[in-house]
Amino acid sequence: MLTALMDKNHFCNLAENWRREDLVQLRSKETFRCPVCQEEVIMKLGTKKIWHFAHKKDSSCRDEYEPESMYHLFGKKQLYRWLEKQNYVIELEKHLPILNQRPDLYLPSQSPPVAFEFQCSSLSAELIYKRTSSYLQGAIHPIWILGEKRISHLNGATYRLDDLALNALQYPPDDSRRPYLLYYCPLTSAFTILHSIIPYSSQTIFAARKTIPLHKAHFPMVLPSPKSLPTDFISFWIQKVFKNRLYLHVNRDESVVLMKHRLIDSGAVPSLFPIEAGVPSNYMYWFETPSFVWQTILLIDIIKPLPVGASFQFKDVYKPFLHLIKTYRIKVRHNLHSDSHLSYAIMDYLKCLRKAGLLGWGGKGRFVKKRDPELPKTVLEAKDKLQGMILTCNEG
Ligand SMILES: [Zn+2]
Repeated sequence: MLTALMDKNHFCNLAENWRREDLVQLRSKETFRCPVCQEEVIMKLGTKKIWHFAHKKDSSCRDEYEPESMYHLFGKKQLYRWLEKQNYVIELEKHLPILNQRPDLYLPSQSPPVAFEFQCSSLSAELIYKRTSSYLQGAIHPIWILGEKRISHLNGATYRLDDLALNALQYPPDDSRRPYLLYYCPLTSAFTILHSIIPYSSQTIFAARKTIPLHKAHFPMVLPSPKSLPTDFISFWIQKVFKNRLYLHVNRDESVVLMKHRLIDSGAVPSLFPIEAGVPSNYMYWFETPSFVWQTILLIDIIKPLPVGASFQFKDVYKPFLHLIKTYRIKVRHNLHSDSHLSYAIMDYLKCLRKAGLLGWGGKGRFVKKRDPELPKTVLEAKDKLQGMILTCNEG
């Protein structure tokens, strides 16, 4: 840690500009204590590592924030200086006893107060969930900044999302509702933003990437918010759905197996599921199961049985779909942020089907079925038509 308590409850903050000799002198006459457990801590003024405080070896401190790597301390110090330059009131490693939290950086004067967590090491899903919800309950806005070395790039526009990243997703104030992830690298002094995130499956996401050097960044961050999806993003997405079709016969995922049985029962070849399925849409965060699965099920079990010309309300689709989620073991995610809902993802998809001409407006909030979902004759035809679908849906 970078802060410790001294006599008279003063703090010693090592993120500030100190001369080594001043600290050596301070160290010779002061005792430093851990703000969490009150045990004595040692000021470390080595030449290779960032100056910091450390508990004694036999410490019983149960501060879950320790141990901290040098990468973490270095980043925390840089972020502290970055906010300081922008004249924010910052409390470093502020212990919030009511919440039992100690954010790396805390901005008490913001409304609501902001807690920055610079997280470089792994953290269990349970712990990060607990921390985030505790901040939200305490009316504090948590901002997770992950160590850049945690970015797990697969290829092209795809990244792997671990439990930590999943829980660190943040939502822009605009209505795209495409979450983003914020990373920081203390070695290059730059932020990396993975934005326009659309989850593909339980652990794979599609994202666009932008790097901003620390000296050009300002808090609050201005996020890139492209209206439409980046082109390479779309081509990688199409390729991914295409591969899912090609290898569908060996896909053993529970909901995929159930979907395949359903398609066979209806007389269709499983790999030739409707061309309208597999579309990226906003609010996709809600699904762990890939879109080609839940969209196929919605098309085959809800839209297809309706006669052409039938009109229906949103709830006529949404309510039966909730049952199908159970029947087909579709995995949905839980969301800490109350201003979004699973139904938004379904509504977004219906709007997309309307743009694609499968549905129309019936007036007074009703949809009209205009045609049946289209089953492709070959996987290549499906690939070409999916591109058209995505481009159509992606239009403003
Ligand atoms: Zn302690």
